[in-house]
Amino acid sequence: MSVNQIDMRATARRLFSYLKSYRPAFAVAIVGMAGYAGVDILFISQFGDFIDRGISQKDTNYLAWAPVFVIGMFLLRGVFNFISSYCLTWAGTHIVKDLRQELFSKMMTLPVSYHDKHSTGELISKITYDAEQIKQTSSKALVVLIHEGVFVFGCLGLMFWNSWQLSLIFLLIAPLIAVVVSQVSKRFRVISSRIQNSMGDVTSSSEQMLNGHKVIRAFGAVELENRKFADVNNRNRQLDVKMEATRSISVSLIQLIASFALAFVIYLASFPAMLETLTPGIFSEILAAMMLLLKPLKQLTTVNSEFQRGMTAAANVFLVLDQPSEQDTGTVQLQQAKGLLQVNNVSFNYPGHSRQVLNDISFTAQPGQTVALVGRSGSGKTTISSLLPRFYEIEQGEILLDGVNIQHCTLDSLRAQMATVSQQVVLFNDSIANNIAYAYRGDLSRERLLQVAERAHVMEFANQLPEGIDTVIGENGVTLSGGQRQRIAIARALLREAPLLILDEATSALDTESERKIQSALDELLKGRTSLVIAHRLSTIEQADLILVMDQGKIVERGNHQQLLALDGYYAQLYKMQFSEA
Ligand code: ADP
Ligand code: MG
Repeated sequence: MSVNQIDMRATARRLFSYLKSYRPAFAVAIVGMAGYAGVDILFISQFGDFIDRGISQKDTNYLAWAPVFVIGMFLLRGVFNFISSYCLTWAGTHIVKDLRQELFSKMMTLPVSYHDKHSTGELISKITYDAEQIKQTSSKALVVLIHEGVFVFGCLGLMFWNSWQLSLIFLLIAPLIAVVVSQVSKRFRVISSRIQNSMGDVTSSSEQMLNGHKVIRAFGAVELENRKFADVNNRNRQLDVKMEATRSISVSLIQLIASFALAFVIYLASFPAMLETLTPGIFSEILAAMMLLLKPLKQLTTVNSEFQRGMTAAANVFLVLDQPSEQDTGTVQLQQAKGLLQVNNVSFNYPGHSRQVLNDISFTAQPGQTVALVGRSGSGKTTISSLLPRFYEIEQGEILLDGVNIQHCTLDSLRAQMATVSQQVVLFNDSIANNIAYAYRGDLSRERLLQVAERAHVMEFANQLPEGIDTVIGENGVTLSGGQRQRIAIARALLREAPLLILDEATSALDTESERKIQSALDELLKGRTSLVIAHRLSTIEQADLILVMDQGKIVERGNHQQLLALDGYYAQLYKMQFSEA
């Protein structure tokens, strides 16, 4: 979405609604900022008296009080400044915290198909970068608007109070400044949206490099990647320079315009008629007010660009928050299921893809039975397994668990019925024990944990680690081999005692030795459960009650091992091929 398409007002209003619980702090912050600026104005307003009464008329009594006044003013200023910064930061960080939390939760409930379409880097940067941008830029914009706003009006008021004739000149240049500001803002918006994109390029290039660092090195592509990144990196730098150049030229331009006003005031003051009405004190006060106006003018020029950046980030965040979560409208709360699985005439294509991936799939698994899926890669086996926990919704056909359409079940209770072990094991940076017990509901005794670990052959390797089963295994278990990771996943599934088990090529990546070990762990797992086993090596599924042979989304053969061999079709051919290889 480009910056221009954002409904600024709606975004701002919505962002403001997050302030609800923090309103008192926010109100105090505003009062503090206004007070801060007010003290400055009060300070300047004493210039005239100081010069006229103190210096010109040599009023020693007045002069004696001046130092106390100075210290008092700065003390007050400090207090206002502290209160306003503290309260603003407090409210701002709360809003960022709330937004982050909401994004975090949202991303866990977005449909799987949403995650298929958006890169991890992109989504991470929303939680980290975008949320931070909102705080940074909107609180900065707010400080400038309120603090400098009050200050500018104060200075103008002071000038008019002292000499409205001289001050009128400022009203003449105001439209000129407005024109420059609006032109510059437009350019800011263009450049900053380009910077955001190029920042995205930097992030995603880095992410790809980090994910693929082994491949890059193995293929000797280090130089190539370096060169590619140099382009992206440099483009980002160029945009930064452009932004800064625009900023400083515009600031200088505005100050130059203001200096004409200043010069004109001095020129006017030299007229005798004018000189009569001015005391040195008043004249200095006006000059001081004019000089001091230059700084806030500069900041008010750039505040718009800050504001735009914050709003763009907010709009980005809201766009994610507004995505529909996965449907959880089912009302049936499944208790421990018996495990009767029926798949009736299911056809499926991935959302946003027209190609039909599953075509009229039907089969039944009685409680405790094992159904095996075999077939070429890409034939739709994994797709079937991801329909059971409703990672994707089906539009044609139905899937029943214990006779209940899974679309009528609550997601929580449905998913609690299943345990999945797939080729990609996801492990957390924690101990082996905690990885096995991950998200286990209820009390878990140490004995039971060890027993499960034993049955899944985890203890075999855990015993050789320095801290046994309490050894921390690094991010996603980098310190473990594929077979070891797989065994942890099996232990995790064993512990859950789910009535329905899904094994998606759980052993394909392993060598024969580890496969044999895992196979016995798996046999342990299969006992008394309904299981859907997707296997690459046919030797592992000979015992299955029902074997479904898939090709291009269709079931082309079905039966048990003996029947399929007798059929002498695709399965028999595949079996002979693997048999001769072995
Ligand atoms: P198998 O597990 O039998 O190897 P899959 O079920 O993984 O096959 O894939 C079946 C088909 O669906 C493939 O053609 C694949 O390209 C497509 N596919 C798999 N996952 C997705 C996805 N997330 N989005 C779109 N298409 C997909
Ligand atoms: Mg697969």
